[in-house]
Amino acid sequence: MDDAIKYAAIDCKDYQMAIKAERQGDYIGEALLGQAQDHLHNCPNCQISCDVFRDHIAEWPLYSKTPEILEEACRVHFQNCQDCNDVMKQKGLEAKGIDWRNYPCVHIAYHVQHDCEAHETAWECSDTMLVQTGAGEYGLPIRDGGRAYVPISNCPWCGITLKR
Ligand SMILES: [Zn+2]
Ligand SMILES: [Zn+2]
Ligand SMILES: [Zn+2]
Ligand SMILES: [Zn+2]
Repeated sequence: MDDAIKYAAIDCKDYQMAIKAERQGDYIGEALLGQAQDHLHNCPNCQISCDVFRDHIAEWPLYSKTPEILEEACRVHFQNCQDCNDVMKQKGLEAKGIDWRNYPCVHIAYHVQHDCEAHETAWECSDTMLVQTGAGEYGLPIRDGGRAYVPISNCPWCGITLKR
């Protein structure tokens, strides 16, 4: 089917109105929700960009205020966009009162946090990716019950050089 026919059910203006209504907390109904999602899928003008993502998602917790129309597209964008991923990591850390600027980069700041209630320290917690092994030094813990680790000299996510 021609894309133009598929997203002609509602035009860009109606689509924007539907998003706005959801942003205000209005329930727009299943029919309009479906049409708006179809429009989003097919309209080249209304694709999710970083700006759209951050306009609608830039609140913590992630997706808490995302219009339903955009939810799936935003999840896909988030998975594929490193920049938006980093921005949301920064926001998540800021929400916990952690200043990521005190770390070599936002990835190290994010992955070295240990906030799991089941384990006393990051050494025991398999959910925590990194351990701090000295001032400005980080490593990948080896889960053998002790405190062995593989030192890293670069951030595994962005490659920034870490102090050795
Ligand atoms: Zn459109
Ligand atoms: Zn993005
Ligand atoms: Zn844990
Ligand atoms: Zn990094």
